[in-house]
Order: sequence, then C-alpha cells, then structure tokens
Amino acid sequence: MQKKLNKGTLCVQGGWQPKKGEPRVLPIYQSTTFKYDTSEQMARLFDLEDSGYFYSRLQNPTVDAVGAKIAALEGGVGAVMTASGQAANFYAIFNICEAGDHFVSATTIYGGTYNLFTVTLKKLGIDVTLVDPDAPVEEIEKAFRPNTKALFGETISNPSVNVLDIEKFANIAHKHGVPLIIDNTFATPVNCRPFEWGADIVTHSTTKYMDGHAVAVGGAVVDSGNFDWEANKEKFPGLTQPDESYHGLTYTAAFGKAAYITKMVAQLMRDLGSMMSPENAFLLNLGLETLHLRMPRHCQNAQRVAEWLKNHPKVEWVNFCGLPDSKYYALAQKYLPDGACGVMAFGIKGSKEDAIRFMDSLGFIAIVTHVADARSCILHPASHTHRQLSDEQLLEAGVAPDLMRLSVGIEDVEDIIADLEQALSKI
Ligand SMILES: *Cc1c(COP(=O)(O)O)cnc(C)c1O
Repeated sequence: MQKKLNKGTLCVQGGWQPKKGEPRVLPIYQSTTFKYDTSEQMARLFDLEDSGYFYSRLQNPTVDAVGAKIAALEGGVGAVMTASGQAANFYAIFNICEAGDHFVSATTIYGGTYNLFTVTLKKLGIDVTLVDPDAPVEEIEKAFRPNTKALFGETISNPSVNVLDIEKFANIAHKHGVPLIIDNTFATPVNCRPFEWGADIVTHSTTKYMDGHAVAVGGAVVDSGNFDWEANKEKFPGLTQPDESYHGLTYTAAFGKAAYITKMVAQLMRDLGSMMSPENAFLLNLGLETLHLRMPRHCQNAQRVAEWLKNHPKVEWVNFCGLPDSKYYALAQKYLPDGACGVMAFGIKGSKEDAIRFMDSLGFIAIVTHVADARSCILHPASHTHRQLSDEQLLEAGVAPDLMRLSVGIEDVEDIIADLEQALSKI
C-alpha cells in the first residue's frame, strides 16, 4: 500500500498503520521484552523462522514503524534504525566488509565519518581509499582492488556542500561488482532518492533534518533490495554462505531482496547493539511528519541568504549549489531539482579572527555543533568539528580553513539576513 503514496503522505502516514481500536498515533513501546505463550513460539523466533519481537536490542515496534516510514520514503525494502548516524555508516560498511577487505569512499565526507573510515575501521583491518569524487571515472577506478567491497559517498557533502554525481558513482560501483552506499542526510528523501539513480544502500543521520528539531540523535540504514549479492557471490560470503551463528542459514537464500538488511538486524544488532531507543524513535517520527513542509522552507530561505551573502562586499566566497555560478549547479539541477538543503559554506574577507568576531556577534543564529535543524546555526569546522584534522586533511575533505558552515533554519528569512548583516557590520 505504502509504495504508491506520495512523499508528503508517507511523511505523515507512513510506517504506523493502526488497526481497529489501536492508537491513532504511534505509541512508544517502552518495553525491553515481549511475551509468548510457549517455549516453541520463542524458539522459532530465535531461528528466524517466525517474525516477531522478543528483545528491543534487535527490534521494537515503535522503532520498526519509523524504519518502515523511512524505507517507504526512500523506496527501499527495509530499514534498520540505529542510535546515531555514526552507527548507521559503521553498520552499512561492516555488514559487508571484514578484516582484509577494502572499500572506496569520496574524500568529501562528514568529519566523523572520515575518522571512522580512516582510523577506527583501519584498526579493525578494513582499509579505505579516498577518491576525489569530481575526478574522471578512470581515475576513480584505479582505487578498486580485488578485495574492494563497496563505494561510498554523500549526496550533499557535510560541510563542503558539494553535490555528488550519484549516477557516475553507481556505474563505477556496479562495474566492479560492489554496491554504492550513499549518505543522504542533507538531501533527505524529500529532495533526492538515491535509489532512483542507482544507489544500493542509503544511510542517514536522522539527527539532522529528519528529526529537524535537534532533540534526538539517530541513524538509519535503508536497503534498496536491488543489489545482486549472488551475482558477486565470492565477494560477499557473509550474505551468500551459511552463517554458523544462525544454524547455517544463508541470508540470500532465506531472505532474497531483504538479505542485507536482515543480516544487519540478526547479526550486527545482536552482537553490537546500537539500537535506536523507542522514545527517540517516537520523537523522530514527529519530526518526519513535517519533513515535506520544512525542507522547501529551508531551501527557499537558504537561496535568499546565499544570494544576499554573495552580493555582500565583506563576503569573499559562497558555496551553495543553488547559485548558478556554483561548480555544482548542474548536478544540483539534475539530482535536486526541488532544492538541495538549507546548508551553505562561505568565507568572509579578512583573518580567522574576523571570522570569529563575526560569529560571536551573531544574535539568534547560534554557534552550535549541529546542523540542519529548524533553528539557524553556524559552525567553523576548522576550529570545531574538524579540529582533529591537519590542514592537508582539511583541504582533502573540501574544508577550507576559513570555511564557515551556515545552516539556514525555517525562521523568517528577513530576520536571518538582518542578523547576518549586523554581525558583518562588526568586522
Ligand atoms: C551528522 C552526520 C553524520 C553522523 O551522524 P550522528 O547522528 O551525529 O552520529 C553522518 N553523516 C552526515 C552527512 C552527517 O551530517
């Protein structure tokens, strides 16, 4: 039923479909455990022969309803909700990579993901090669090896706000027999559905626009069900060979299109946890109910602000893919025709101290380690989120040392501009 509905209806009504006499609003199932009548019923659940809830580390009805909504919005076969976006990206990779494996990622990724990929996954024996996503196809292909298991990129990169050529990336991944994993946090499915452009797995930090109110950290992994694991059998033994920890069950044989996402619940959630809490899922669901209303407003406000900054004499540069002279304008027109997001990057004329004075002079546009919520906020990645990176690594991640990341909220745009104006007048 859900696949046929449009995005706006899915935002409001997707996921939770109450039956007769059940609550109209998604309830919080604040329970770690679920009751069964016989030992046999419980045993069948543990063998994955029946589906049902037994322990909220693996699955919970509130969390599942939100996962179903996000899966429907992205057009996937299923989603796993995680405690954070970091956990989502870790699970997306770790579900198909183990020690000795390798994957390829765009350099232009979120700072936390950069550390996860280049430091923590390396400690687990999983190697990554970072590629400039704007490089020619042949250049990117050089990064692939026989043990490469995935290609990764962000639809709109955080914080450099570059737009990824998803179709180009999908073609490269598929030519090498691996899935394309796309972090779609900034675009959200309201503005872009990567599966329609060939991506196989989508991840989210739901902490950002999906929640939209900065109240609950969370993440999601969505499976399109489109990647043919069996056609690349030898690359993905975890999916195509018997799982000894599940009595020799083979995920592709038992679950078909849902093999990847079922393995993630059955194995990774079982062994590693990182499940979203029911209460956070409830809050996220409230945010999702207005996602289709908030995104256009974020985009309209950001367009106005970007054009205004661009013409301001104290502003050196603005990177916003909605500006016609942006390097990413054409890609944005293709992948994000209804608008990209409310986030932009810019630099002002002057020193780093001027940038700091400017930020400290802002009124309701707050300096916070957050982005993509209803309230406008600003951050200087080189001094905040990306502090651990060297200047060289910063440039590689597309983060100029003077880059300020402005996340335009859904307040009245005249007030946002007035706040920027008065702060710029202080320098
Ligand atoms: C914030 C963010 C993450 C990490 O998500 P958390 O919810 O903070 O763990 C991953 N990817 C992108 C693009 C992000 O913006």
